[in-house]
Amino acid sequence: MKCDDRCQLCGFEGESVNHMLFTCHLPRKCWAISNIPSPRYDFSDQSIYENIAYLLKVIKDVRFDVEVNRSWLWILWYLWKNRNTFIFEGKLFEAEEITKKAKEEADVWFLAQQVQSGMDKMEAGVIEQGAHGNVQTIAKGCVLCEFDMDRSKGCGLMGAAWIVKDEKGRVLEHSRRAFSDVKSID
Ligand SMILES: [Zn+2]
Repeated sequence: MKCDDRCQLCGFEGESVNHMLFTCHLPRKCWAISNIPSPRYDFSDQSIYENIAYLLKVIKDVRFDVEVNRSWLWILWYLWKNRNTFIFEGKLFEAEEITKKAKEEADVWFLAQQVQSGMDKMEAGVIEQGAHGNVQTIAKGCVLCEFDMDRSKGCGLMGAAWIVKDEKGRVLEHSRRAFSDVKSID
């Protein structure tokens, strides 16, 4: 089958995955406005391995903001989706939309992991009971309800979970939920 192997965005001959994710003008702009630190000599136009290796290194660098850097995978993902949406549906998203969406989705993902880990801890019965580490006793015939929540600064997303245990600490019920547009946790 005869295919057009030019980049449909800029006309570059021999479109590659590396070009589409790093060196075409759209990904360049996305990386620039994402605030993820760029390589000193820019992303390589030869090696996608070098570029991914750079990102894997920079996200572990404690000098940079983890909440900014952690969206890198979602940026790659939305660049890829954007390229396909453009080719097959003729729709093209701006760099600002791509990075905003990537940041939001990354925040939602990490928030969900926090809620999950909070639930796991509760279910395993390892909730810290105050500074002295006392095991909380539940009066006979009563139940204990515990809850926890976490809110992502800036985007108004919140995850919350609760659990009810009987007097022997056995889990009776539990649930979790994500909330959006939370103005305040008061
Ligand atoms: Zn291009």
